[in-house]
Amino acid sequence: MITHTIAVVGSGPVGSAYARLLLEAVPDARVVMLEAGPQLTPIAGENVRNIPDPDEKERARERSQGPQAGVFRESLGIPSAVVEGMFTARGGTHLLDYGGEGSAHAPTFPAAAASTNVGGMGAHWTCATPSPSFSERIPFIADAEWEELIAEASRLLHVQTAAFADSEIGSAIRSLLAEEFAGELPEGFGPGTLPVSGDPQPDGTMRWAGADVVLGPLLDPESPLAERFELRDLSLVRRIDHADGRVTGVTVEDLRSHEIYPVEADLVVVAADAFRSPQLLWASGIRPRALGHYLTEHPVVISTVALDAASMSRFATEEELDRELARRATNPADPVAAVNRIPFSEPDHPFSLQVMYAESPPFQLDPEHPAAGNRWGYVNMGYGMRKRPRFDDAVTFDDDELDYRGFPNFTISYALTDDEQAEIAAATERLRRAGNALGTFVAEPRLLPNGSSLHYQGTMRLGAEDDGTSVADPYSRVWGYDDLLVGGNALIPTATTMNPTLMSVAIAVRGAREAARRLTAVAEAAGRTN
Ligand code: FAD
Repeated sequence: MITHTIAVVGSGPVGSAYARLLLEAVPDARVVMLEAGPQLTPIAGENVRNIPDPDEKERARERSQGPQAGVFRESLGIPSAVVEGMFTARGGTHLLDYGGEGSAHAPTFPAAAASTNVGGMGAHWTCATPSPSFSERIPFIADAEWEELIAEASRLLHVQTAAFADSEIGSAIRSLLAEEFAGELPEGFGPGTLPVSGDPQPDGTMRWAGADVVLGPLLDPESPLAERFELRDLSLVRRIDHADGRVTGVTVEDLRSHEIYPVEADLVVVAADAFRSPQLLWASGIRPRALGHYLTEHPVVISTVALDAASMSRFATEEELDRELARRATNPADPVAAVNRIPFSEPDHPFSLQVMYAESPPFQLDPEHPAAGNRWGYVNMGYGMRKRPRFDDAVTFDDDELDYRGFPNFTISYALTDDEQAEIAAATERLRRAGNALGTFVAEPRLLPNGSSLHYQGTMRLGAEDDGTSVADPYSRVWGYDDLLVGGNALIPTATTMNPTLMSVAIAVRGAREAARRLTAVAEAAGRTN
């Protein structure tokens, strides 16, 4: 018998982790997952990078672009009076500040973007899944517990720690980086393969993970868990309903019919990204002092390098290169091949380097360029640096100005300080060294505009105590609301330099376990009194 209803707002990897773990742990619960965007693929939440047909892939990306969804916009229930912004959003995402009526205001964070579709950004992500280390970790979660949470998050996301490890080209790249930085990096934190989320296929390609793998059995009609799970797409949650510190459910707008209806729930989980989750809390009158504040992302410096034949030949043969190219030819639609990194370590390397090998550059290289058609291929590589959390870096909401969805519109204020500039300069210098060790720059190192990381953190940060500097307790419950959980990168309270999704799913595992324990305790207590 169903005795608990759990409403999950947002169908990205984090909302999906909550749905799965709560249904697995609480046998008398059902989950209603509400997603503002459309379902893109027959398997809910699948990574669109797995779609083989380029036109179909492009269409799936465009349908995810909310107010910038072009011809699909009106069929998605979204007003059409919008103007394209000056920045181009990454495929599958839409700029928050796109410049039209109802657009957010983000002049100091102009590249900020979101995805609006089943699977969230997790239908478009690159699937890099490093773990935080040293001060990137959350100080009030003990190491042993943290390792276990990461292991469970890795299981949910299908993390491969040795992806493409058999690539001789990838191995040669690591050897050249190891030579360059020999003696400068602590044991275990030198060049290595980058963990990624996906399932290697027999032909050597990867089926990239999305929210689909996190939902897992919930999408399997044969699984009893599927009977207690319902995913409603094009369903915009307008309000979290609550009274006297108790959450009673959510108010939803069906974007097809524009009908507004309630979903009563014992527990509400809001995992609707680092801007729209705090906006929903604000619109619902839930306004902790830290809500929207302490915004961080890791600044990004990127470049593209043509691999040098003489240097690479010291560690890989022509035959090995032929083998790599033959393998790449089996899946030309997927630009990602060997992926390497140098992880964050303290005190001397407080940055993360990501190095992606590809046989062609990500942009049209002039055919006359000496590095055009480089047989040994290219690497796209970049450093992520820290951004110290500050109250003043924030998304703030205006009750008197509505956005295109009718929510209090938001403005982002953000600045890089001297601390960040110093680390950006140091990382850029290292990027030059790494590039020169590997070959010739075809795109010089450059700092991307604020917001480019797509990894927005801190706006609903976790805290050990309710001292006004955090939104949620160590189990992701909003302070003062035991039945309201928040999830996503917004909860990360530390200055990190890497891709945050694995960390956010690990935080969700902790929150889901505690919520399941409480729901089960309530059921047991009710059973005892019957
Ligand atoms: P999201 O995936 O953002 O999902 C939130 C969902 O909530 C959205 O679908 C949205 O439509 C929905 N929503 C919002 N408001 C409402 C509402 N009111 N009612 C109902 N639904 C609502 N991360 C990594 O760790 N590694 C990477 O390599 C990486 N690469 C990336 C590459 C790209 C191109 C992109 C776009 C992202 C990348 N990311 C990467 C980021 C990663 O995808 C996110 O960290 C992750 O998806 C966050 O999961 P989430 O569930 O918290 O939120």
